[in-house]
Amino acid sequence: MSEQKSSRIGGFYKLSREERLDAVKDMAGLAQEDIDRLLSKESLPFDLADRLVENAVSSFGVPLGIATNLTVDERDVLVPMATEESSVIAAASNAARQCRDSGGFHTSLSATEMIAQIQILGLSDPWAGRAKILERKAEIEEICNGCDPMLVKLGGGFRDLEVRVLPSASGAMVITHIIVDTKDAMGANAVNTMAERLAPTLASWTGGRHHLRILSNLADRRLARARAVWPKEAIGGTEIVDAMLDAAEFAEVDPYRAATHNKGIMNGISAVALATGNDTRAIEAGAHAYAASSDAYRPLSHYEKTADGDLAGSIELPLSLGLVGGATKVHPMAQVCLKILGVQNVVEFSGIVAAVGLAQNFAALKALATVGIQKGHMTLHAQNVAIAAGAVGEEIAEVAAELARRGEVRGDVAETVVAEIRSKK
Ligand code: NAD
Repeated sequence: MSEQKSSRIGGFYKLSREERLDAVKDMAGLAQEDIDRLLSKESLPFDLADRLVENAVSSFGVPLGIATNLTVDERDVLVPMATEESSVIAAASNAARQCRDSGGFHTSLSATEMIAQIQILGLSDPWAGRAKILERKAEIEEICNGCDPMLVKLGGGFRDLEVRVLPSASGAMVITHIIVDTKDAMGANAVNTMAERLAPTLASWTGGRHHLRILSNLADRRLARARAVWPKEAIGGTEIVDAMLDAAEFAEVDPYRAATHNKGIMNGISAVALATGNDTRAIEAGAHAYAASSDAYRPLSHYEKTADGDLAGSIELPLSLGLVGGATKVHPMAQVCLKILGVQNVVEFSGIVAAVGLAQNFAALKALATVGIQKGHMTLHAQNVAIAAGAVGEEIAEVAAELARRGEVRGDVAETVVAEIRSKK
């Protein structure tokens, strides 16, 4: 077995860019060409951008940082995160540090299955139509698998069938779900192709008219879970554990709070999804639909006190992530980010992403339940405000420090401070 390298890189934030990259190269076993890609001014060459989207004119830069300290399923991992929001990467790293000694994160994925829906309309006997479709599962399997021999060869393909009859204002509709194991692909194109191929056949069997044929982003056959224990000593004592439990309980009983609680989770999850070329909107849609799939909109994570008085956190949400397909294999930066993660399959990948979501959520809850969220946010935010007010070079830190000192991190104040500094030169 190869020697396990540590993701605990103390003072990573104090290192220069080159030193940080050296540490990542060493930990993740990157090649020099990967480092060159990370150092390159052009993270996405224009010819690729032009192939990825229509009417391309440029590409849009977002900061890419590395979360340290994560141990996921006994493996230390550095996590690339692409986000424009300050404090997110530091918060994830901090939360991961505080549960390292108790074993880090443990994860699972329910399956790698996706659902595609086929809508059949115009049936006077929708329940009979449902029964006719369910009778022909073997033929449906053959049609679906015939669309993607590559996926079948890899051990994926059609798995199951569900048919629902939904009442609607325009009459009952028969909704067929094909459930497909898409393995290491997110699978939207794969299942959409199957749904489109199958739909006319379902219409002819039932005598109805086929209409929509598209995957569901409520990917509840692909539920990722993570859990961790934060020892009370590591987070500042019983009082903080209790304060965090009260904060978490707020989200359990109030959708206004739950929306913000879940947004904090997605700060981490969307950042890893973006860094790896995944479809952030599909993941966001799935997460929020899952949060709302019981009687009310609920938090995606839960917190409890262990018998020893420590804080146990857990998270469960759909994660339609891919290691192949979409932009994952096309975007050169996504490829480097996947190398940094060093994952072998989408099960491992999903576990890490769920762990980042939980870490992010823990950090936000802790800040909210103690010092408040602004303290951590303000240092970098003050710099952004300074830049927006026209500060350049060394002025940026000077203006930010002055805004923090005055306790007024605002654009108008920043403009005044910039003018004051320049008048003194
Ligand atoms: P894809 O079609 O590009 O790649 C998936 C295919 O890769 C599989 O069908 C299989 O044939 C092949 N493959 C090779 N190695 C594989 C492996 N190890 N595991 C599984 N398959 C393997 O991509 P996709 O994942 O089907 O679709 C993802 C794209 O679809 C994303 O770009 C997404 O944005 C887009 N999309 C999303 C939606 C939505 O979320 N509502 C709708 C339409 C399209």
